[in-house]
Amino acid sequence: MRCYLTHSPEETTLLGRELAADLRPPCLAVLEGDLGSGKTTLVKGIVAGLGACPEEEVHSPSFALVHEYGQDRKVYHVDLFRIEGGNRELGTLGLGELVDQEATVLVEWGEKLGDLGLVPQVGIKLEHLGGDKRRITVERRAKDSSR
Ligand code: ADP
Ligand code: MG
Repeated sequence: MRCYLTHSPEETTLLGRELAADLRPPCLAVLEGDLGSGKTTLVKGIVAGLGACPEEEVHSPSFALVHEYGQDRKVYHVDLFRIEGGNRELGTLGLGELVDQEATVLVEWGEKLGDLGLVPQVGIKLEHLGGDKRRITVERRAKDSSR
């Protein structure tokens, strides 16, 4: 488990770029944290770091639920904010299939995934510490820690 402190959105995006270097598809990464804690800001850096698209083209998919970035190495950006936990809608999103296609799947409000049977390789928690300060905790499953 690794813990980072950031002091600006730019720092969080930069951290996302660094984290991207350790993500190997197929990969499911879930992000948890309150509204405004910086999930989308971090995802911008991860998507850019994976080379899928420039960070300014990454926006929260609150209404679309899923955004797709990249050409051959796909990155899917999911936002479950508007989904009720345990909702049947979740099953129909087909997240499992997305992960299976050598893609990187980044899920905001990942705690809502519940018992879909998906096991994330990476769990990221973001905490608002007041002002522009954020604590970002990254946890990898044991399988990945040797990388
Ligand atoms: P979420 O997706 O968790 O709702 P966003 O990334 O959309 O959060 O929004 C985070 C907001 O907080 C943005 O307006 C961003 O500019 C601001 N912010 C201030 N400091 C930071 C920081 N250290 N890291 C990330 N975002 C920050
Ligand atoms: Mg968001």
